[in-house]
Amino acid sequence: TEEVIRRSEKLSVVGQLAAGVAHEIRNPLTTLRGFVQLNKQQGSLSDTHLDIMLSELDRINFIVSEFLVLAKPQVSEYEQADIRNILNDMISLLDSHASFINVHFETSFEQDIPLIACEVNQLKQVFLNIFKNAIEAMPTGGIITVKLHYVQSDEAVVIRIIDQGRGISTEEMPRLGEPFFTTKPSGNGLGLMVSQRIIANHKGTIVISSKLGEGTCVEIRLKVNRS
Ligand code: ADP
Ligand code: MG
Repeated sequence: TEEVIRRSEKLSVVGQLAAGVAHEIRNPLTTLRGFVQLNKQQGSLSDTHLDIMLSELDRINFIVSEFLVLAKPQVSEYEQADIRNILNDMISLLDSHASFINVHFETSFEQDIPLIACEVNQLKQVFLNIFKNAIEAMPTGGIITVKLHYVQSDEAVVIRIIDQGRGISTEEMPRLGEPFFTTKPSGNGLGLMVSQRIIANHKGTIVISSKLGEGTCVEIRLKVNRS
């Protein structure tokens, strides 16, 4: 059976978010404090310790910058952009790494796609997150199909990103987009939350459907004009 979840309403759970951020930042801080303490007691830290400290600092920095996206004011630099360029840019960015691990992108873009009023860098971040999830869902390789078409009656552009990965279980499905929900050993569970927020800011929708063991489709719908 196919599981479908729609959401753009479940986002602003501010309390949950704040608690999550505090927790995620406190863990690396605890590690860092422990190592500084160790250094005071026993003298110089090993390279291994320093490497761990660096990666913990990077982690804090990453979490803070993800949340800055959310803190950004709603009205900002919208421009008329060609969604095909945005998609192609992000595919190029990941393509060599992807093909190295046997993941290949296939695109099917309709010819006449109107320009979209959007924040280019934010949409880039969304597609980057979703492409990365697709790649990570296919550890032994596979194809990511990116489809783009224009629905004239709706004045909307529809982007579908389809992978052949592990799929999403019925239990996991309702938790997607929850801050820090991840099933990956080194995941952070922020990608979908941030993506959903960005798409909601664009007055668009994001729908995820999946069959366990077969793959996942992420469908993003964006109005040509936001109002
Ligand atoms: P992260 O990638 O750091 O885990 P995300 O917010 O991007 O965080 O994704 C949250 C979770 O949603 C993932 O851990 C995974 O379980 C699930 N998920 C998202 N996209 C896919 C996909 N294409 N295929 C399978 N599972 C997915
Ligand atoms: Mg992710």
